[in-house]
Amino acid sequence: MKFSRLAHYFDLIENTPSRLEMTRHLAKLFTEASALEIGPILYLLQGRIVPLYVTAEFNMGEKMVIQAAAQAMGQEKGTFEMLFKKHGDIGSAIEELKQYQASLISHDLSVLEVCSKLRAIVEASGPGSVEKKVSLLSSLIQDLDSLSCRYVVRIPINKLRLGFSDMTILDAFSWMLKQDKSMRGVIEKAYHVRPDIGFIGELLKKHKGKGLENVTPAIFTPILMMRAERLSDPSQIFEKSKNGFIEPKYDGFRLQAHGKDGVVKLFSRSLEDVTHMYPDVAGAVLHELKFKDIIFEGEAIGFNPKTGKLLPFQETVQRKRKYDIEEKIKEIPLKFVAFDLLFLNGSSRLETPLEERRSQLTDLIKNTKTATVNLAPEVRVTSVEIVKKQFEKSIRDNLEGIMIKKHDGTYQPNARNWNWIKYKKSYASRVDDTIDCLVMGYDSGQGKRSGFGIGALLVGVYDAESDDFKTVCKIGTGLTDEEWKLIRVMCDKFKTPKKPIQYDVDKMMNVDVWVKPSIVLEIRSDEITRSPTHTAGRVLQKTKSGGGMEVKTAGFALRFPRLEKLREDKRPDDVTTVLEVASLFNLQNK
Ligand code: ATP
Repeated sequence: MKFSRLAHYFDLIENTPSRLEMTRHLAKLFTEASALEIGPILYLLQGRIVPLYVTAEFNMGEKMVIQAAAQAMGQEKGTFEMLFKKHGDIGSAIEELKQYQASLISHDLSVLEVCSKLRAIVEASGPGSVEKKVSLLSSLIQDLDSLSCRYVVRIPINKLRLGFSDMTILDAFSWMLKQDKSMRGVIEKAYHVRPDIGFIGELLKKHKGKGLENVTPAIFTPILMMRAERLSDPSQIFEKSKNGFIEPKYDGFRLQAHGKDGVVKLFSRSLEDVTHMYPDVAGAVLHELKFKDIIFEGEAIGFNPKTGKLLPFQETVQRKRKYDIEEKIKEIPLKFVAFDLLFLNGSSRLETPLEERRSQLTDLIKNTKTATVNLAPEVRVTSVEIVKKQFEKSIRDNLEGIMIKKHDGTYQPNARNWNWIKYKKSYASRVDDTIDCLVMGYDSGQGKRSGFGIGALLVGVYDAESDDFKTVCKIGTGLTDEEWKLIRVMCDKFKTPKKPIQYDVDKMMNVDVWVKPSIVLEIRSDEITRSPTHTAGRVLQKTKSGGGMEVKTAGFALRFPRLEKLREDKRPDDVTTVLEVASLFNLQNK
């Protein structure tokens, strides 16, 4: 397939306001692509050349892109800067000038040729790499038509966001095979085990959907992590998990460790390869455990090297950094507390009951005081009293609460069900848990905050049924001046002139600046209330006259919301769902 053909699809997708139409365009594109091309095309659709969990840094900024375009078209840099200002997008600026040079296109490159040039840009490093990157991009601009240029230059600067989630791609796979959504469930299940969209696409093209049930974990491809349901009543917890296990709930960050042939990689909740940030943990996995190949999970948490005491999240999180890592390792060493085994010595353990998985994990971990990798302690659920006792002990130890796990539960990637229950400290508020929200936009500030140019953030939760984001509140308190500044910078990186199509927002809640799905915040609130202007859980009906719509059931809103943490480890589709907010609302009103 020629890249110009792919650019035509990018244009169709970018400009359709309807999700269904977008899905159909994608399905058509996938049908047209060959089995060899579909993987690279799927990564390009996400603005990348490799899967999400593989690091591939272009290290290019807008200035370098302008330099490449000036070089390719023999124009002054100032001309591009002027057009960039006019469009607010470097891709459209280059497209406009390129239209006048249509006769100069020398090659109509294929998708695979473009991918290999983009790969060469990533690989260029060391002295002279800036010139090399610029010249490679410049030759791409020369060889491609104007529409292709609009999209290709957005890739190295991470600006190609076409506005759909992985779920839309999975729907489109089903449309490609069956012309409807009927295969979505089974495709999604395979994707949770192997969240490599290119691999799944290629498999579907080659085998027409057969063999999806046999997709097994692959070492160095992170598995989507299992989640827990919430409960805060010890008797209910006991009923649901008799004979199960109670573990402390540590407040650090979750890591999935993969090891094979002397190499260990660590992945975060959002599937990011974070090995470079935690060389101490990766080294410990390699030296403290014996295995041929392995995937296991645990929580990494900082401790005070003098007293051995575990540290609160705010201190542990300082280990998440790109520079001066060695220095911080000494200051805040980590313990990696393992709690689950997913793969060992050639075979998947996902279907193995927890009791067996835990016992195999116990055999692997020495659990000495000096070791970095430790095993999470466990206590059997034999009575309601035990649940209460362990919870109180955990709180006394300054932990977040407890995790209660079914003894015969399998590991279900990405699922949130009763196999795992979290019982967290209840604060003064009536809401038992914090809510992870997506930043959808912001209003420019007034008064003191006008200095930061940001006043309140509009945030929302995910509606799995309609695959879009629905609002729950505007948040304007709980942030320090520094946090406001940081959030403003982050928002501006992802701002967009139009309201993204995945946002369902009541007119009353419109904001000054829209932000594409990218930033996740953990928010605490005093209460979940009903509000006609928020769209999460809101049901509309036709007015009696039939002319318009009116609110049948009001939506959910967060009362007195405060920012708890920035969740850089979560992706937009990882935020709390409307259904979860509904169940928290019901719990609170019991
Ligand atoms: P979720 O994973 O439910 O989306 P979250 O990441 O916001 O939620 P919590 O709701 O606080 O976090 O609870 C689940 C998290 O608890 C896990 O993702 C993991 O990081 C952490 N955790 C701490 N101790 C344990 C444990 N013993 N077993 C499993 N998870 C644990």
